[in-house]
Amino acid sequence: MAAKPFASSADLAEKTETLEILADGVYALTAEGDPNVGAIEGEDFLVAFEARATPVAAREWLDRLREHTGKPVRYLVLSHYHAVRVLGASAFDADVIITHENTRKLIAERGKQDWDSEYGRMPRLFKEPQSIPGLTWPDVTFSDRLAIDLGGDRGELVLQYCGRGHTAGDIVAWLPRQRVLFAGDLVEAQAAPYTGDAFHTDWSTGTLDRVKAFEAEVLVGGRGVVPRGRDAVDAAIEQTRNFLKVMLDKVGAVHARGGTLKEAFHATHEALAPQYGRWPIFEHCLPFDVQRLWDEFDGIDWPRIWTADRDREVWNQLQGA
Ligand SMILES: [Zn+2]
Repeated sequence: MAAKPFASSADLAEKTETLEILADGVYALTAEGDPNVGAIEGEDFLVAFEARATPVAAREWLDRLREHTGKPVRYLVLSHYHAVRVLGASAFDADVIITHENTRKLIAERGKQDWDSEYGRMPRLFKEPQSIPGLTWPDVTFSDRLAIDLGGDRGELVLQYCGRGHTAGDIVAWLPRQRVLFAGDLVEAQAAPYTGDAFHTDWSTGTLDRVKAFEAEVLVGGRGVVPRGRDAVDAAIEQTRNFLKVMLDKVGAVHARGGTLKEAFHATHEALAPQYGRWPIFEHCLPFDVQRLWDEFDGIDWPRIWTADRDREVWNQLQGA
C-alpha cells in the first residue's frame, strides 16, 4: 500500500464558494469543507468574522461581500489563533481586531510555528503566501463576553467565550435577534473536527453545552454546510460531540491498558471511519487529533506546539505505509 500523501498537501482542487445570506445583513461564505467566513452589517459599518489564510484569499471573499454592501470593516473578529483563520487580516483594513485573551497568548507563544505547520498541511489555502505581512495581532482581547451594538434597530452582536475547546481561546459570535451563531471550529457540520490543540473533555461537555444553549436557528461552523433550523443545528453540535466522545473512548481504552499510540490511532480510525471517514480532512486530521488526546491522557494539559518537523514525524508514524 502506498503511503498517504501528507495531510492536505495533495488536495489541490479548487472548491466552489457560496455566499449565503442568513438574515438581513448577515452573510457567510461556505466552500465545500474549506474554512467558512462570515460578516454582519452594522448600521454604518461591518463586522467580519474570520480572515482566511492570506490577504489575497481574504480579498476574494471581500469582493463577493462588496456585491452586497460597501460599508467599511470596523471590527474583525477572529474565533481562534489558527493561521488559516487569521493571516489574511490585513486585507480587511479593520479599525479593531478582536480575539479572546488566550488567543493573543497562543499567537505570541506559537504563532510562527503554527504558520509554518498549517502552510505545510494545507498549501492550497495559502493563496500567494508572500502577501502575508506577518503575524496577526489583536487590538482588543476579552476573557468572557464582549457585545457590539450594531446600531439602528439591528440589535447587538455578542462575542462569547464558552470554555476550552478546539483551542484554549475559541470564541463564538451570537446574534440574539436573528438567532444566528458563528461557532468557529467548535462545531463542524459534515467536516472532520481538528483537535490537535484541543481540550477534548472540556470541549465535549461544558463547552458544547454552552454552544447548544444559545438555541440557534442557524449555525455557521468552522467548515462545512450551514445547518438551518433547531434540529439541524443541534445535530451538527452532537455530531461534533460524538466525534470527540468516540475519540475519548477509544484512545482512553488503549492508553489505560498500556497500549501504543499507533494502536490508539487504528482503534479510533476504525470506530470513526464509518460515520466520518468521507468528510473533508478526516484523514488529514486524525493523526494530529489522536496524538493530542494521547498527550492529554499522559497528563499534558497545555498542548505541545506543532512544528513542520513534528507534523511529519507524527504523520509518518501513524499514517505511513
Ligand atoms: Zn482551527
